[in-house]
Amino acid sequence: MATICISGSASGIGAATKARLEGKGHRVIGVDLHNADVCADLSDVAGRAAAVTGVLERCDGVLDGLLPGAGLADPHPSERIAAVNYFGAVALTEGLRPALAKGTNPAVVMISSNSTTLMPVSNLAVIDLFLAGNEVEACAQVGVEAYWNSKLAIAWWMRSAAITPEWIGAGIRLNAIAPGVTETNMTRPLMEIEGLKDAMKALPIPIGRWGQPPEIAAVIDFLLSPDASYIVGQTLFVDGGTDAFVQPRGYPVPMPVPSV
Ligand code: NAD
Repeated sequence: MATICISGSASGIGAATKARLEGKGHRVIGVDLHNADVCADLSDVAGRAAAVTGVLERCDGVLDGLLPGAGLADPHPSERIAAVNYFGAVALTEGLRPALAKGTNPAVVMISSNSTTLMPVSNLAVIDLFLAGNEVEACAQVGVEAYWNSKLAIAWWMRSAAITPEWIGAGIRLNAIAPGVTETNMTRPLMEIEGLKDAMKALPIPIGRWGQPPEIAAVIDFLLSPDASYIVGQTLFVDGGTDAFVQPRGYPVPMPVPSV
């Protein structure tokens, strides 16, 4: 049985994944602000270091899987959204890489979002700051687009890292999921915000309903498992068809024809 770390384990998608994996006999080490094996705040450098240390102590330096799922959205401040969703997730993933390299069939599933293809990228320069690891400037410059910019940066970071010697070269598969609106403690309050409520209701969801956390957990379970042994560097949309609806030719994108 595998030992898997989940951040954001106390609620929503993280809690559903924890329940599913534990139900299969795996050992889960949960990280969250509260109600977790390791209680730590992933919004700052000290909290991230405490999270990594706490997980390493509990897994004796060997980890088979990781879901860096802790995240937040409106109405939290933009800089906190960026700090947790991107910098917290990447720091936890990089901090646990040596333990994953010692694991059996190790895999990581990052959590992006289908907001990445639903919303316009207003400022690619800010995404570059994320990817350069410049947290101070990224958090200072990011605005209302913090949520989907942080989730786009996560998907791009994952895709770039996945193919490197440090990750797949060490046998660690990195992939991501991009959930659509899923009914959790993060999304329920959004329905109370005037203006946002109507926008949420107007979202095109071909399947005709919001997702439920166990539906997302099942996909994470698959991507973490050896059944997904040949999947590397992919972001899988789990969104009831929204991404396909808004961008039917968005993916796959053919290689551009070389200019002569
Ligand atoms: P949730 O609010 O139910 O759970 C998020 C968890 O993250 C909470 O337990 C919270 O305490 C924890 N967390 C927040 N800030 C933290 C911090 N600073 N340090 C440590 N832990 C912290 O939300 P959810 O919907 O289950 O979201 C899980 C992930 O899925 C997030 O990354 C979210 O952005 C992503 N996501 C959710 C949806 C959706 O519709 N629910 C869609 C796409 C992506």
